[in-house]
Amino acid sequence: MESQLQQDLWKVAQGPWESGVLPSAENLARARASLPTALQDTGSSLESVQRHILDDIVPAFNGGSISANYYGFVTGGTTPAALFADNVVSAYDQNVQVHLPNHSIVTDVEYNALGLLLDLFRLDRSAWHNGTFTTGATGSNILGLACGREFVLQKAAQRKGIETQSVGEYGLFEVLNALGLSGVQVLSTLPHSSLVKAAGILGIGRSNVHNICQAGDPLRFDLERLEKELARTDKVNIVAISCGEVNTGRFATSGEDLRQIRQLCDQYGAWMHADGAFGIFGRVLDDRPEFATVKKGSEGIDLVDSITGDGHKLLNVPYDCGFFFSRHPEVASQVFQNANAAYLTAGSSNGPSIPSPLNIGLENSRRFRALPVYASLLSYGKSGYQEMLERQIGLARKIYDWVFDHPSYTALPKTSSKAELLDQTFMSVLFRANDEALNRNLAQKINDSSRMFVSGTSWDGAPACRIAISNWRVDVERDFALVSEVLAKVAQA
Ligand SMILES: *Cc1c(COP(=O)(O)O)cnc(C)c1O
Repeated sequence: MESQLQQDLWKVAQGPWESGVLPSAENLARARASLPTALQDTGSSLESVQRHILDDIVPAFNGGSISANYYGFVTGGTTPAALFADNVVSAYDQNVQVHLPNHSIVTDVEYNALGLLLDLFRLDRSAWHNGTFTTGATGSNILGLACGREFVLQKAAQRKGIETQSVGEYGLFEVLNALGLSGVQVLSTLPHSSLVKAAGILGIGRSNVHNICQAGDPLRFDLERLEKELARTDKVNIVAISCGEVNTGRFATSGEDLRQIRQLCDQYGAWMHADGAFGIFGRVLDDRPEFATVKKGSEGIDLVDSITGDGHKLLNVPYDCGFFFSRHPEVASQVFQNANAAYLTAGSSNGPSIPSPLNIGLENSRRFRALPVYASLLSYGKSGYQEMLERQIGLARKIYDWVFDHPSYTALPKTSSKAELLDQTFMSVLFRANDEALNRNLAQKINDSSRMFVSGTSWDGAPACRIAISNWRVDVERDFALVSEVLAKVAQA
């Protein structure tokens, strides 16, 4: 961090974010007008490129990760340790592709970071120490469904007494044909859109992702219907647990039902995948009664076959970063092995047997995105992340409490019991305005303040707003004052 420029950047990234959560229209227009229309023959000096980026482009950024009051999507921020490590990653530009223990330490660090994450989430290293870093939860969901697809079709072959068929080797079409099956289904409750996207990419098909919800509760599985689908003889199935639903922040299971679903999956040869992009962090919390309900949402998650988690959300490392764990490491290599590249096989002379990342995930060449994770985990430890999450939950509950009592707003999902609502609150607040006209533009009205940003969404067929609290900079009292002031003003106008 020696140059003035780097010191300035460091300050921006660590200091309080003074600008609005959105860039001004003028700054956006100026940045757009500054973009070149064609590549010049002759390059510009490094200094002028730096000036252009800082003076023209940067003012048109939003405060998505940097502002503590950007509550759109689920963005997280970047902890100082992660920021430092990410700069090291760029400067040294290591390619984490093949485990070559005599050439570089990077695969060891990546493997170590995966182990540290397991400790954070109280997952047993002896069962789970494998997996990989991905570009995010979407990437991890693709890995989860790909492994599931491979596994359930191999199980189906075993059951029929047919020689094991690998989709990775022969392709989905040939394997389904050989087994006399018509397709793969994904059974879930309110899955994140990226899971549906993953099904589209993997030849499962978006229309084969089904909501198997209870009539009165869209998050919970209807176990009777689930068993009916699992028992079908023409399809094989992957059950996807929404371990943290993106609108409500609530969980699809609470321990006992997860165990029942596990039994059904074993009985019918289905794969269980948990999308815990942010929900897996529920496992960071301690045993205080105020967190008991939230903690139950990820209880028993160690029984599933694969887990998706996001790094660039609640872990607060920079984009892009996700992680993927599986209890069946051999399946990942059946799907993702980089065929016929003998020069890429690992020399494993000493240390733990670490798989080469290129044989267990999507990419061959990869960024060293494990290092910011590693750095941030060392910097905060278990209790640091627990304390961060407690602040996020604390703010969400304080806002919900206020919204619940406010005559102009309704807290969602609708309930008559505030205590129950707060008890179930993780780090998201879902609500709408009672006035229909206001509610139609509520997200925009709030965001026009440029003091905070919320996502518009829909709930029960009508518009709603979501405040997702995921930044390490959260300060409960300071941020509650700002949020309640903005919401009160919007309600008055
Ligand atoms: C954000 C999110 C995703 C997608 O994650 P990306 O990091 O954007 O790829 C998937 N599932 C859930 C539950 C999410 O919240």
